[in-house]
Amino acid sequence: MEDRYRRQKAFIEVGESGQALLSKARVVICGMGALGAMVAERLCRSGIGFMRLIDRDWVELDNLPRQTLYTTRDALEIRPKSIAAFEHLSAINPDILLEPIVEDLTHLNAEKWMSDVDCIIDGTDNFETRYLINDLSARCRIPWVHAGIVGASGQSMAFVPAKTACFRCLLPEPPPVEQMQTCDSAGVLGAAVGVIASWQAMEAIKILLKKEIAGDGFLRVFDLWAGEVRKIRVPRNLASESPVFQPGCRTCVQYQFDFLDGKMGTHARVLCGRGAVQLQSSGRGHLDLALLAKRLRKEGQVTENAFLVRFTHLPYIVSVFADGRAIVQGTENPDEARKIYARWIGG
Ligand SMILES: [Zn+2]
Repeated sequence: MEDRYRRQKAFIEVGESGQALLSKARVVICGMGALGAMVAERLCRSGIGFMRLIDRDWVELDNLPRQTLYTTRDALEIRPKSIAAFEHLSAINPDILLEPIVEDLTHLNAEKWMSDVDCIIDGTDNFETRYLINDLSARCRIPWVHAGIVGASGQSMAFVPAKTACFRCLLPEPPPVEQMQTCDSAGVLGAAVGVIASWQAMEAIKILLKKEIAGDGFLRVFDLWAGEVRKIRVPRNLASESPVFQPGCRTCVQYQFDFLDGKMGTHARVLCGRGAVQLQSSGRGHLDLALLAKRLRKEGQVTENAFLVRFTHLPYIVSVFADGRAIVQGTENPDEARKIYARWIGG
């Protein structure tokens, strides 16, 4: 039989033994947008044994210039990204085990979805989830590969617990909200995504191959328009006694997991570049989507599939998932979104 991985195994750093390691490796991809979906495809083609694909959103037409895993049909059918990705990746490599999850990653489900893997991939679009991943990584000693992109610039760093600095050594507190929503105004170039996602996949493969070079302690900043890559050494923020006492990094030195313990973070989240707010479910459990669709049909236009019900009452579009989570389009004001949700879906 033809050997799918022949050329990959011929690369000396992989070999038979490396390929065997990859085939047993377990990875979770947090966020299946531009970066996450491309990293997932790269790892899938490399023969990673198990991948969990987590995403809270559906495919839209304006994703397609950079989210190369998805098709126009996915967008027209309003398919959740993790479900669409599951189907495309299964066709690309049927030998690997894939687990699609249509949920938002929060402190409530972080341990359930991220603690049983060898590496975590940051495909998120917000700082809050990155701090959550960082907390989980430090607590469960699981390496993660961060990346972010705006315009044609991006950054990436592999965080390996007890070896490198962590995300909170790099950035002790989340930046102010007004700085966090820049990807809308700056846009993003698909070709740049390809470079940074491939670098992220590269780092993950080094980690999974258990190579010494994995997690070299550098943040890499890519300016792909200018064609420049900067390497910045990020030291661990260790405790020190002199000249004045410094307690060191709150996460990887003090072991305080503010995000994982739910002490920091919000339940309504403005979605970057979407003109939308996501409302977290209040823990009331699974919704009967068919029943909800039937009720809403009396009030306005309803479209539905197996994963969500979309209710249009312009200027608002409310999409409700089976887990009770909702995305309200037509506002970036969390209070207004809550009001709309309470009015049409239920308080
Ligand atoms: Zn740290």
